[in-house]
This record gives sequence, structure tokens and C-alpha cells, in this order.
Amino acid sequence: MVIAHSLPEDEIAALCVQAYGLHGELERLPGENLNYLLSTAPGERYILKLAGDELPADVIQLEYMMIEHLVSAGIGLSLPRILPNRDGHIETRVDLADGMKLRARLLEFVDGAPWCQAGESGPDLLRDFGRRLAEIDRTLSSLDHPAAHRSHRWDLTAANTHREKVALIEDPERRRLVERAFHVYAACALPHLPELPHSIIHSDANDENVMVEGGRVVGLLDFADSLYNPTICELAVALAYAMLERTEPLETGAQILAGYHEVRPLSPTELQVLFPLISGRLCTTVAVAAERRTIDPDHPNWYVTESRAWDLLERLAILHPVQAADMLSAHIDLKPEQGSGSDIPGLLRDRKAYIGPSLSIAYREPLKMVRGLGQYLFDSEGEPYLDLVNNVCHVGHCHPHVVAAGQGQMARLNTNTRYLYDELTAYAARLAGTLPDPLDVCFFVNSGSEANELALRLAETYTGRSDWLVVDNAYHGNTSRLVALSPYKFMGPGGKGQPEPWVHVVPMPDGYRGIYRGQDRQVGEAYGDAVGEVIATVEAPIAGFLAESLAGVGGQIIPPPGYFRRAFEHIRAAGGVCIIDEVQVGFGRAGTHFWAFEQQGVVPDIVVMGKPIGNGHPMAAVVTTRPIAEAFASGMEFFSTFGGNPVSCAIGMAVLDVIEQEDLQRHALELGSHFLDGLRALKVRHERIGDVRGTGLFLGLELVRDRVTLEPAAPEASELVERMKARGVLLSTDGPLHNVIKIKPPMVLDRQDVDMVLRMLDDELRILPA
Ligand code: PMP
Repeated sequence: MVIAHSLPEDEIAALCVQAYGLHGELERLPGENLNYLLSTAPGERYILKLAGDELPADVIQLEYMMIEHLVSAGIGLSLPRILPNRDGHIETRVDLADGMKLRARLLEFVDGAPWCQAGESGPDLLRDFGRRLAEIDRTLSSLDHPAAHRSHRWDLTAANTHREKVALIEDPERRRLVERAFHVYAACALPHLPELPHSIIHSDANDENVMVEGGRVVGLLDFADSLYNPTICELAVALAYAMLERTEPLETGAQILAGYHEVRPLSPTELQVLFPLISGRLCTTVAVAAERRTIDPDHPNWYVTESRAWDLLERLAILHPVQAADMLSAHIDLKPEQGSGSDIPGLLRDRKAYIGPSLSIAYREPLKMVRGLGQYLFDSEGEPYLDLVNNVCHVGHCHPHVVAAGQGQMARLNTNTRYLYDELTAYAARLAGTLPDPLDVCFFVNSGSEANELALRLAETYTGRSDWLVVDNAYHGNTSRLVALSPYKFMGPGGKGQPEPWVHVVPMPDGYRGIYRGQDRQVGEAYGDAVGEVIATVEAPIAGFLAESLAGVGGQIIPPPGYFRRAFEHIRAAGGVCIIDEVQVGFGRAGTHFWAFEQQGVVPDIVVMGKPIGNGHPMAAVVTTRPIAEAFASGMEFFSTFGGNPVSCAIGMAVLDVIEQEDLQRHALELGSHFLDGLRALKVRHERIGDVRGTGLFLGLELVRDRVTLEPAAPEASELVERMKARGVLLSTDGPLHNVIKIKPPMVLDRQDVDMVLRMLDDELRILPA
């Protein structure tokens, strides 16, 4: 640009004559770009644009093609047609004396006045604008050009790339606002965009580019941002600008939308993503402005839209996505999908009437969920929640491959394991293939509890014994026997408060606050030896040891290295069987390995799996060794009506497909370590964080009031969880002292989600009351 200032006006005039055969008066137009008005005769005007080499030739070709396409379709709008020079080229190259190059283009003058100057905004004009935009989109849908397949700063499908700039916004209330709007964009628009109609769009129909005259839209300028996008992005960008500074922004949007819909009817999904896309555009504006401010806070053209965008974001912040879509569609017959069924008080009343009262409900204000998608859950208002809790929907809520596998198999065959069918053996072989030898015999049941029950029976039949060792604070299931084997339950509210005589509790291998805290010795081995010490106190011979590979309800505990190796040595020396419960953490969540026990270099005798195995479909499995399985075939048949049915097997298979195809174990490792690094950085800044731990996407944040005494900060942990929920992030607390924030999301979580959560935690921890 700087070089262009040095081109004197007489040289520009000479260029007009030589290249275009035009004589006339030149006038520099205001703005950053080097644009000149060339008047050759009364009423005969052109725009001469001079640019450096920054604009690729194929993008200019794209602009040319688009405008010619619109003109030849008889669009009836005044457009900046590019006029070829005398040699027939749409660009004229100008060599400057200093060796630099300029490129000139001559454009037809576009009629009308920019909308922002025209001061008109009645419903007729708004509808006319909508119709015109739709005509443009409809016409451009038959055009394609390689240069359109690009992205740029304002590409609405890539707004997420600006999300990290939120951290540059100083005002915490504004950060909160834009964080939520970005979240709505990412959750409610992004996942749907690939399936929507795409076409080349103008992508910048703002009030400086739209020309009006006599209450009608008569022209459109500036095709420089054109690109191939979901077509709905055209309307979203247009609305994001048109709604600025309006007394009733959504009514303005609704009028434009009504005009648009007349000419190019929207699909239900296009209507659904429109508001989230508008949010994404407004977020881009303020995020880019925040970044630019760090470069040049006084730049004349960089902040023209910023304050108006903040204003609109503030006004839209009170709306839920469904409500906004409802208002935007006020004048058309297409309506957003509304939450149906009972409202929250009605559901609470009915639960009280018909559901056992021993169930608790998450959060102070309960949530009514109506839909799941990937890492998100949506409530009845369409409000998205980032789910950091649900390790059951392992490959993402409602993953289409898993859903299709279940639906397909349900429509084909569902029967039981007393018949032969391919799905059972194919799945069993694949599942066994994920485990080390000699774990290769599978049993299928329907829940983690059933699987643990079966594991106990297998071990008891094999050993002929019935005394068990379990880890303190563990949970293994809801049957009587498993409650008796779960210190989390029998020591917790409503529990007996002491173990049954056949249950022997070993210490939890908690490196942060456990019995060997602060000791120099190898704590893993020390906790392992503690297992041996308990065995020494047990009179009866033990059947075995039941342990979670990583403790879940115990507070996201990662046993120190060496623990299981030493513990297993003691168990096996006593003739017991080692059962590892992977119900919470299996299937790649730990990141480094497919099964979390593999981190400790041990091979259990029995592995129990559940939760993620069916991505929410009720299924579970026990995998053991041939000798144990054979000992169990003692004459009494083991049969589970639903266990291993073809539908469950097809679903289990689909889950394994997705883990493999989407490389989710590696993703868990990489994203998990990024998350862990971020949490550790928060620990440096916030005294309240006592410990950060985890592996892969199984993480914990332990809150304390004092880092020396480790006084637990349980109310603070609950408060933080509530505050994060209010901001659209679902977390929960656990651990014996209720002060550990658990993080175990669907494995399809992405980096932007993690960065958002880290920023939000940082903000909330700063203001968390003591
Ligand atoms: N084992 C562990 C480690 C668990 O976390 C759970 C469930 N929270 C179970 C077993 C029991 O599984 P289910 O609820 O499917 O019976």
C-alpha cells in the first residue's frame, strides 16, 4: 500500500488513457484502499482500483466470474463489473520506477447510496434486501470456481479460530458474554454445517456494500470476501450487520429472513443454525478487534463495527437459541423445533410420583435435556452444554455410525446367544484382540454391576474361596454383593459403616493425601505392600482382589507406578485372582494405552468393562483366561437374556470402529496432556487448587483451602461446578471429601473446548468465594 501512494495522479490518468482509452477527472475515494473515482462525462463514472500483489489473480478472476454470472442471469442489480482493458485483460499491470508492481482494475460505477448513509430501514426495504440476497444466492448456486474454495479471516465456518482471542478482552463480563456466544456457535452451528447446501456466496453484504435508492436495494459492492461456504452463511453475515443498532434487532432480522425465504426457502437446519452463525460473526468482529488492539489501538478503520457488535451481543445474550430462531422466523411458516413434553416443575412432580426417591438429580436447578450431539447436550431451550462428565457416550453423544449400526441391526435381527450369529463371535474376537494374552474368553452382560458380579463368581468358582480385598473408596456396582464390596457405598450415607466379615479394605493408592504422603520410599510399591499387609491379617484364604485401574468415585486417583505389580504379587502369592474394573476408564480414555491397567505393566486375570463399551447402549463384558472360564463351566449354565445380543454386538463393534477410525486414543493422549498442562498452569495461579492429576481424558482437580493441611474445599468445588454449569459446561464433584472436580468427557472433545474451559475456570477461580 505504501508504495502506491507514490504513484502520482498524472500517471494514473495516463494509465486510464493507455489501458482503457478513458479521459476524465480522478478523485481519490476515502478509505484504506487505493480507489479512485474516474468521471469521463456527466453520468459516466468508473472506479479505478489499485492494489499491490497481495490479491491473488485467481481471486480477481473469481470476482469477475461471479459478477458476470449474476449479470448474465439478469439479476437486475447494479454490480461492480470489471471492464477489460484494451488488451482484453481484467487487470492491468503497472511497473513502478522502484521495481514494485501495481495492479489496476476498472469497475463499473454502482448506482445508489450505501445503505448506512441512506437512512432507510422500513420493513419493505428489509424484505427487498432479503429477496435480493436470496436471488444472488440462488443464481450463484450454479457457479463454481477453484479460487472460491478458500478460507480467510472472515470465513464464518472458521470463526472458531478466533476463539483464543477472547483472552485478550479485558472486561470479564464481556469475556463471559463472548465466550458464551462462541460456545453457542461451536455447539449449535458448526456440527451441522457440512450437511447444509453449499455454494459461492458474496459473504459481506454489510450496510456499506449494499446500495439502496428509493426504498429498494439497487446494487451490491465488494466481492473480495467471496468464497464457497454453506449458503446460509450469506444470510447470517447480512443479518449480523443489519441487526446492528436496531431498536428491535430480531424483528429486523425476521423481515430480511422473510424476504429471503420467499425466494430461497430455508431448510429447518438452516433456520436452526442461523442465530448461532450470527453469534459467530459478532464474536469474530469483537475477537479480531481485541487482537488488533494489541497491534495498533488507534488504527482508523479497524474498529468501525466493534462497539456496535458488542452492543448487539449484549442484547442477544439474554436469548436462548430456540427462542432466537423462533423470533427470526416470526414472519414465515417454518418454525424451529421446540422442546416438547413437560416443563421442569412438571417433570419433578412426576418423578416424585413415579420414580424411587433414592435417586439424586444433578445441579441446584435441574436441567431438562432433549438432545445430544458429539461432546454437547442440549436442553429444552436449545442451550448447549459442553459435557465434561459423560464417559459413557465415549465416542460422542448419538454418534451417527453407532446409531446407524444399532438401528440397522435392530431392523435385521435381534435374538439371544443360544443361537449362532456372526455378530457375537466377530465382536468377541475383536474385543479380545484389544487385550493382552491370555485374556481371550468373553462373557457379555448388560451393566457394569452385572459384569462385576459375574467376575466375582468366576473367581470364586475358580478358587473355591469367597473372601475379597477391595480398595478404599471404590465403587463397583449396585447389587447387594457389590455394595458390600464398595467402600464408597457401605461407608457412605445410608451404608452400614463397616465392611462385611468377608470384605477386606486396602488403602487407596492416593499419592496426594494417602497414608504414604510425603514419604521418600517408592509409594507405588508401598501401597502394593499394604495389600500384602492386609492379606496377612485375613484368616480365610482370599478369592481375590477387585480394583479399578484408575479410581473414579474415589477422586480421579492415578495409582503410583509399581502399585499393581506389587499388589498382584501379593494376591497371587495368596492364591487369589486379580480382577481389574475398567468400567469407567477403558477403551482408550487413559490415552497411553487402550486399557488403563496396561500403564502399570500388569496383566489381570479378569477384566471388567462397561459404560463406554456401547456408547450408552446398556451392555458390559467380562474377559478372562481360558482356565478361569473353563472352571466356571461346572455344570450350571450361565445365560443372560440380553447379554451379547446381535444389536449390542453391532453397537459394540461400531464403537470400536469409531475409536479406531477417529484415532480417539491418540486424541485422548494429546488433548489430555494439553488439558493437564492448562490445569497445572491454573494451579500456579490459584491457591485453591491443591492437586491436578490425570491421564488422557480422565482428569481431576482437587480443591483445598490450605495446601499444607489439605483442608478440603468441598463447598467451593460445588460452587465452581454450579458456576461452570451456568456458563454451559457440565462438571461434577466426587472423591471421599467431595472436593475433586472430575473431568471425563466424551473423547471427541476438541482443543477449542478445552481452551474455553481453561479460560472459564481461570475466571471463575479468581472470583470464587472463600
Ligand atoms: N464399576 C465402576 C468403576 C463404576 O464406576 C460403575 C458405575 N458407576 C460400575 C462398576 C457399575 O456399573 P453400572 O452402573 O453399569 O452397573
